[in-house]
Amino acid sequence: MSHFTITCRGCGKELKDVYCAFCEHCANSLLVTDYKDPFRDDCGSGIWKFNWLPVHKPTFEQPGTIVYRSQWLARHLGMENLYIAFNGYWPERGALLETCTFKEFEAAIVLQNAVENEVEGLIVASAGNTARAFAHLSVVADFPAIIVVPRMCLMEMWYLESSSRVPTLAVSDGDYSDSIDVARRISAISGLPFEGGVKNIAKRDGLGSTILEAVSKIGRLPDHYFQAVGSGTGGIGVWEMSERFIRDGRFGSKLPELHLAQNLPFVPMVHAWEKKSRELFKEDLRPELIGQISTRVLSTRYPAYSVRGGVFDAMQACGGAMYGVTNREVFESLELFSNLEGIDLVPASAVAVGALRQSVEKGIVKKDETVLLNITGGGELMLGREKKTYNVEPAFVSKKITDKEIEKLVCTLLKKN
Ligand SMILES: [Zn+2]
Repeated sequence: MSHFTITCRGCGKELKDVYCAFCEHCANSLLVTDYKDPFRDDCGSGIWKFNWLPVHKPTFEQPGTIVYRSQWLARHLGMENLYIAFNGYWPERGALLETCTFKEFEAAIVLQNAVENEVEGLIVASAGNTARAFAHLSVVADFPAIIVVPRMCLMEMWYLESSSRVPTLAVSDGDYSDSIDVARRISAISGLPFEGGVKNIAKRDGLGSTILEAVSKIGRLPDHYFQAVGSGTGGIGVWEMSERFIRDGRFGSKLPELHLAQNLPFVPMVHAWEKKSRELFKEDLRPELIGQISTRVLSTRYPAYSVRGGVFDAMQACGGAMYGVTNREVFESLELFSNLEGIDLVPASAVAVGALRQSVEKGIVKKDETVLLNITGGGELMLGREKKTYNVEPAFVSKKITDKEIEKLVCTLLKKN
């Protein structure tokens, strides 16, 4: 008997044990996982200690989030109950994610879920850190994956040594959205599924595991939750987990307010939410805006915003705010955080710190409220002092690649493995 079922947010249809399912009635609606049992955090080690994950028998180790109460940043901001969810490499605190990103949870849960559903391999499209996470987990879980990234992100990308044998393609003439298109075509031709983006329940539940650790540690749902968003998948995952906690009944009765941030001037979700529009505005998706931000990992032009069960619905259900954070605020926040808390951050995490600073200045968050700040990635410098990291050496492809060329390429890539 499975400990979970999957339900469509649109029509309520229930599905069981299927990989990355889509509702046949509702093309534009997300499915969500329903867990039968109350929340537990004693089911195994690392991330596997939680029962609210769509996996049965984990086959590899996966460390989880570390949540701790901030002293110095909290004091600086005049906050009494600021908790930091640190996702990255910081052994002193017990944080052991060698890819330095919370995308490791997404990759771990997606791959374990795929293994259990007898999927034979996955095609992954990413703007950078998701690629590193999937490449790492592909090796850890011994599960084939082909990774597709935009060339413009290569500069900011690195792999662990073991990941360098994972087949990686770089789309030389396009952005993140073009690499998603290429990945979809490779998937159709190779027969290996596309990891599914936000529609994959395993992805959202994996990213939502951050709030599982927070509630396990704090004993209740936070009043406010801060995170930087690119696709918005992490924010949606946290909303879904929070709804489960409310149904559980032991951890609070109010959803945490969501405070989601993007890097100015590329802030399509911020502008749409300000106008309470379910649709994004075309002028906010112009590619030239992406060239101006310092956090490319937040640059997707296909965020999970309008879809039923997406960011718009999450914001409506939870309340809260969306924030545009300037490059200057990003760099100030990077420095502030590492000076006060003693660990380096990736720029995307500094976007969340910038949003927290804005909300404190505006008095949106009250001094004594319980706040969870999701540091989605950090500890790269710390890791670099202990381990060697490598530039990614991809095979380059054009977004205009023909089906025939893809066929040939897939043959070579999969044979090499
Ligand atoms: Zn449906």
